[in-house]
Amino acid sequence: MNNYFIILAAGKGRRFSQNKPKQYFNYKGKLLIEHSIDKALQSKLFKKIIVVISKKNKKLQVKYKKKQIKFLFGGKERKDSSLKAIKAIKKLKPTNILIHDAARPNFSIKMLKNLIKHLKDNVAVIPYIKSKDSVKYKVGNKYLNLKRKDVNLTQTPQAFIFKNLYNLAIKQKEDITDEASLFINNNQNIKFILGEQKNIKITYFEDLKTTKNFFGIGFDIHRLIKNKKLYLGGIKIPFHSGLKGHSDGDVILHAIIDSILGAIRKKDIGTYFPNVKKFKNIKSTKMLKPILKNLVKSNFYINNLDINLICENPKVSKYRYRIIKSISKLTNLDKDLINLKGKTVEKLGLIGKEKAIACEVIISISKYD
Ligand code: ZN
Repeated sequence: MNNYFIILAAGKGRRFSQNKPKQYFNYKGKLLIEHSIDKALQSKLFKKIIVVISKKNKKLQVKYKKKQIKFLFGGKERKDSSLKAIKAIKKLKPTNILIHDAARPNFSIKMLKNLIKHLKDNVAVIPYIKSKDSVKYKVGNKYLNLKRKDVNLTQTPQAFIFKNLYNLAIKQKEDITDEASLFINNNQNIKFILGEQKNIKITYFEDLKTTKNFFGIGFDIHRLIKNKKLYLGGIKIPFHSGLKGHSDGDVILHAIIDSILGAIRKKDIGTYFPNVKKFKNIKSTKMLKPILKNLVKSNFYINNLDINLICENPKVSKYRYRIIKSISKLTNLDKDLINLKGKTVEKLGLIGKEKAIACEVIISISKYD
């Protein structure tokens, strides 16, 4: 194992348009740059990891203060930083060298292993993906159509036999954006292997945004009384009693409403539907509607609903399908994303004596970009 890993993180990110370089922004719970360092460490494939940064970052340097990691300051352009690192490790006599842009945090350890494996029979191994977009190439004032199937988009990490790379790198004159270009400019053979779709390059600030999930919890309980119809999940259920309340007492819909309000941090059902005359005998489906409208208007969507209906009777199994179908229709959520569990209470208390029904709900929601 005579492998070395160079991580280039000295870039200023001109397309990023923020006041600090993107590698020092948070991405999925840690700094962008840390994803590459951590994965290289975890892989246990490298004798040394060289991290090229633009200026002192004390926090980072303290966090990764170990023999295996060396921090270097980069040059003016990417190629200068890369050359600096290549020169710096020459004395260590590396066999294989992998060069990686810190702006790609999503490569896999499997990819690292695959690259190194291919170095047994090749001097340069480059991961690529096919272009999904049509490509136009500008020559002078004219545009040429490039055949999409012939367009390879190259990624990093890229792997090289060190001495081959070194010999090309010290003679390089052109401005290159990756080391594969160096091999192409010098008519050297490259082994292209399939890269990873998820291994995107974080280029714009928007790329850093990941989907945010929120959870909400809802609970409700109503007494059962004679001479009232029972509504659960928006449908009428034949039963000896109905749920007492200012509304139709639909505990499932009330708990769903509170779970939504919880997830979007908008207080509780009583805030929107106080016990006033206006809402006397209101149908719970009518209460749910404006709450859902608000959810959609704020750019949220529901991921899933999990419902516990707590009662001795009626038996949930008998009405499960109909209740889920009704909730699906009301919320516009796929039936597969709604779960309804029936829970009895061993005949204990009011619920056990069929004098009340309770319900609890957990909801997960996400925000559209
Ligand atoms: Zn209620």
